Amino acid sequence: LSSMLNDPSLLETRAYVGGKWLDGDKGTFEVSNPARGDVVAEVADLSRAQVAGAIAQAEVAQKDWAKWTGKERGAVLRKWFDLMMANQDDLGAILTAEQGKPLAEAKGEIAYGASFVEFFAEEAKRIYGETIPGHQRDKRITVVKQPIGVAASITPWNFPNAMITRKAAPALAAGCAFVARPAELTPLSAIAMGVLAERAGIPAGVFQVVTTSDASETGKEFCENHAVRKLTFTGSTQVGRILLRQAADQVMKCSMELGGNAPFIVFDDADLDAAVEGAMMCKFRNAGQTCVCANRIYVQSGVYDAFAEKLKAAVEALKVGDGFEDGVTTGPLISDAAVAKVQNHLEDITANGGAVLTGGAPSDLGGFFMQPTIVTGVTQDMKVAHEETFGPLAPLFKFDDVDDVIAMANDTIFGLAAYFYAKDLSRVYKVSEELEYGIVGVNTGIISTEVAPFGGIKQSGLGREGSHHGIEEFLEMKYVCMSV
Ligand code: ADP
Repeated sequence: LSSMLNDPSLLETRAYVGGKWLDGDKGTFEVSNPARGDVVAEVADLSRAQVAGAIAQAEVAQKDWAKWTGKERGAVLRKWFDLMMANQDDLGAILTAEQGKPLAEAKGEIAYGASFVEFFAEEAKRIYGETIPGHQRDKRITVVKQPIGVAASITPWNFPNAMITRKAAPALAAGCAFVARPAELTPLSAIAMGVLAERAGIPAGVFQVVTTSDASETGKEFCENHAVRKLTFTGSTQVGRILLRQAADQVMKCSMELGGNAPFIVFDDADLDAAVEGAMMCKFRNAGQTCVCANRIYVQSGVYDAFAEKLKAAVEALKVGDGFEDGVTTGPLISDAAVAKVQNHLEDITANGGAVLTGGAPSDLGGFFMQPTIVTGVTQDMKVAHEETFGPLAPLFKFDDVDDVIAMANDTIFGLAAYFYAKDLSRVYKVSEELEYGIVGVNTGIISTEVAPFGGIKQSGLGREGSHHGIEEFLEMKYVCMSV
């Protein structure tokens, strides 16, 4: 990997703590390439005491960082953004090596991740308060926004760069210090951001990367350490619940971006080519491993067969392979367990009357590679209707009635993203209003952007990331009542 990089110094394997590069008291843990299984790097494995040390340094650094003007903080964030974009190719290669997604997609993630840094660099100047007319003649009421303090993050492996920048950029813009604990499967992208943070002039201790193999122990330190005032997590609903319980003891402010079970609905009046294009983007991007991936595709009976045929042609044009190979659109899944989950959903569908339209067998490439698959005749009593598949399996459900499909779409504990394709204006309004989701894509399969508030309702999470709302998660409101 190192020989592929223009700047091999971005491939750092130590943790970044207090502006220094730290070896792990627990030695190292291996990071391997999911496409080939080879070990890419041995990364510092920090002890719980070392994580506590990072938090202590963050606490000190934050006090000064909060005094910088928004413009000053914005200027170094802007530099961080520029460095990410200048090193997009290398950061993309590091990402593909540890995560498996195709190189073009990995570079796309770097641009997407960096866009949050750019956005919040600008937003740092706009942390506005408020004045409220007094309730008595001698009273003056001022509302100010202040950084919450030290923020800690736990993030997943599916977007090793962007899941961190979405949190770190608003935190830093707000004047918080940030301790990032990346997923143990994909720490290299996070460490590389530490390298660039140092070069950008972000002060020591303000952005730190703690690499640990023991997520549960790190999560406990984040929740039990009184210097941590904010926990921001992206991952499964199951782990989100654990962290919320742990965070309850010190009533810690939490943001949670948890699981999804996105419905993707195609109505009779939809532009079918556009619907197929949208479904391909939001089902098969990152080999189906995103929390906003279409998990259930509902197609109205009048266009069911036509949609299925068009989707089949598009799926059969995908090329599975090593993300570094030219023309590959679909990389491997992240692990054995991920492959087993998809197989399990597939077997449940075929055992209960669903049929494979294309794919449906393990890929010839072996390992964690899977054939992109479409199944038809899927119904609401199957596992895929209620659990997130997180893989390249597109299940087609058939429906007739608008109210029925809305009820089926909402029949889940999750409420992150939903998508639908239709042209009739009153139907568009009705469906977008009645879907119980934090994000609704209408005639589009791509809804992620730094300028809009991303987040879920129900058991998909708490809080929003991106947009001017995203910075609020890292601010406290203080109201000053003055008698004059
Ligand atoms: P996924 O299925 O996407 O891996 P997880 O919720 O299991 O989702 O993992 C998301 C992140 O949470 C990863 O970085 C993982 O290491 C971490 N994690 C897993 N279990 C715990 C835990 N008990 N406490 C804190 N973090 C955890």
